Amino acid sequence: MRQIQIGDITITSIIERDGPWRRPEDFFINYDTAKGLAVLKEEEPEVFDFESGRMYITYQTFVVRTPRYTILVDTCTGDNKGHPPPFDFPKQRWLDEFKAAGLTFEQIDYVFCTHLHIDHCGWNTVLKDGRWVPTFPNAKYVMHRKEYEAWEAAHKRGDDPPGTVFRDNVMPIVEAGLALIVDDDYALDDTVTLTPTPGHSPCHCCVNIFSKGQRAVVTGDMMHHSLQCRDPEMSTKFDWDPVEAGVSRRNFLASVADTDTVLLPIHFPSPTAGTVTADSKGFRYRFKR
Ligand SMILES: [Zn+2]
Repeated sequence: MRQIQIGDITITSIIERDGPWRRPEDFFINYDTAKGLAVLKEEEPEVFDFESGRMYITYQTFVVRTPRYTILVDTCTGDNKGHPPPFDFPKQRWLDEFKAAGLTFEQIDYVFCTHLHIDHCGWNTVLKDGRWVPTFPNAKYVMHRKEYEAWEAAHKRGDDPPGTVFRDNVMPIVEAGLALIVDDDYALDDTVTLTPTPGHSPCHCCVNIFSKGQRAVVTGDMMHHSLQCRDPEMSTKFDWDPVEAGVSRRNFLASVADTDTVLLPIHFPSPTAGTVTADSKGFRYRFKR
């Protein structure tokens, strides 16, 4: 996509990495290879590499420029985090694309976290003189209360996940007074609101963007691949609650199917933005070209 327009709002993609990534067999619970291949042949050509048998998975941040604010939604994996493979890939591309979008760290007014997983809050912080500090010093970082509290408790128990993620990406934000811990009905203003879609994580949220009668939704990790539109109950091995994730996915997809609502799923490869239609088998995702 690189850039799309929703009324007065411009949305730009900043990519950290893209290309073939995981095999669906390693990613989804009870994945049926033969059935999956038959479905994938009818999907958009960008979403699967038949040669390697891997899904195309992109890691990206969306920059949302409203008439009032400059907002980031999700911040990929970040640099110097010491994460094990596969999250140790080079991170310079994200910095280069951030700069190429004409942005400075100081310009960011809000950072929305759809959820607090390793690959969605990484650039929340950077390492400075041996300490993790907020990357965007003038931003408020918006996180859902239930998401925050569940990971805080998991961190206190010493669970992995979150491993070091909560300590390095979230705690420095709170300590700096930049966290905005919010509830279901939070609205930044009449242009940006949340729709909770729990399951993939304790309280994953989609971020709605409204302008001039148009709507886009950053759907975070509510779904990772268009296969999950054909079969909304197809959950991943990384889901907090796979059953709840399936319920959230089906309800959300039903709510936007056959409308002009533009979806922006973080991990869908370029052109990323798309719309959903419903049919007898489930839903179908089509890129906006
Ligand atoms: Zn993710």
